[in-house]
Amino acid sequence: LIGLKRDEKGRNIQVVVRCRPFNTMERKSSYGVMDCEPNRKEVSVRTGGMNDKAARKTYTFDMVFGQAAKQIDVYRSVVCPILDEVIMGYNCTVFAYGQTGTGKTFTMEGERSPDGEFTWEEIYNEELFDLLSPSDDVNERLQLFDDPRNKRGVVVKGLEEVTVHNKDEVYQILERGSAKRRTASTLMNAYSSRSHSVFSVTIHMKEITMDGEELVKIGKLNLVDLAGSENIGRSGAVDKRAREAGNINQSLLTLGRVITALVEKRPHIPYRESKLTRILQDSLGGRTKTSIIATVSPSSSNLEETLSTLEYASRAK
Ligand code: ADP
Ligand code: MG
Repeated sequence: LIGLKRDEKGRNIQVVVRCRPFNTMERKSSYGVMDCEPNRKEVSVRTGGMNDKAARKTYTFDMVFGQAAKQIDVYRSVVCPILDEVIMGYNCTVFAYGQTGTGKTFTMEGERSPDGEFTWEEIYNEELFDLLSPSDDVNERLQLFDDPRNKRGVVVKGLEEVTVHNKDEVYQILERGSAKRRTASTLMNAYSSRSHSVFSVTIHMKEITMDGEELVKIGKLNLVDLAGSENIGRSGAVDKRAREAGNINQSLLTLGRVITALVEKRPHIPYRESKLTRILQDSLGGRTKTSIIATVSPSSSNLEETLSTLEYASRAK
């Protein structure tokens, strides 16, 4: 096994930024505001409008991926080091955080390839759904309980766990989960931008010790495609929307608080304040590794959301 290299500061959370290419609409009606400097690990944002080239905000992250970055670049630099940890028996998480349309799903779906056992659940409106359940009813909700055997764990009652042995089986599962997400999107309002999807792979590794004993190490990888970051901090919503927006705020806001509390090594980590952080409790903090991929658009038309994504991501460092 490859030994783990901690980063210089020995931190367990790393934050990277990925800027996607312009889309057709943006190319027609806007200009670029993002300068990515992968070597300096910096992004520099033009904040002063078309004619003020001097007004800029600069942010430094652990890594920066510009418009030219490919899936494989992100996979090699971000996911592979995390997989090394998982193989050593630790629980790790990769988050995609950013405005709707900036490439969260694009990035996460390109990074799913290891073998193991899968679960795939989704949180919408603080309710849990199983993306791998054989049932056709997309409205079937799951319940969360504390795990009596594990202080930091939860049990999701009835969550489908699928064992896979090769890549083909993995792809079949991905197809099934994605199809369910698509069905849900057509039935529920703004489902894909408001839901958090949590895809978990548990890997069991057998090892024979020098004395001939058999040891089983278990590691877990969570790939989390978060709700659109524009769902944070919006006011003025009414009725059902207010409740939905409020609940999404709950998971996204709590995640931010949990990460801040972990970064600042506070004694109390507010895991219990949202479904998302409860589900991920055994994979955040302690001997785990977390990567946050903040996704942004290069365009002036999304400047406000881009700045708010970069601020949120900066707070997680
Ligand atoms: P999100 O999940 O954040 O709402 P998507 O992943 O659905 O965003 O991406 C929005 C659109 O942009 C999709 O059509 C996707 O294929 C495209 N896209 C996103 N990131 C990239 C990228 N790095 N390179 C090329 N196309 C991208
Ligand atoms: Mg998406």
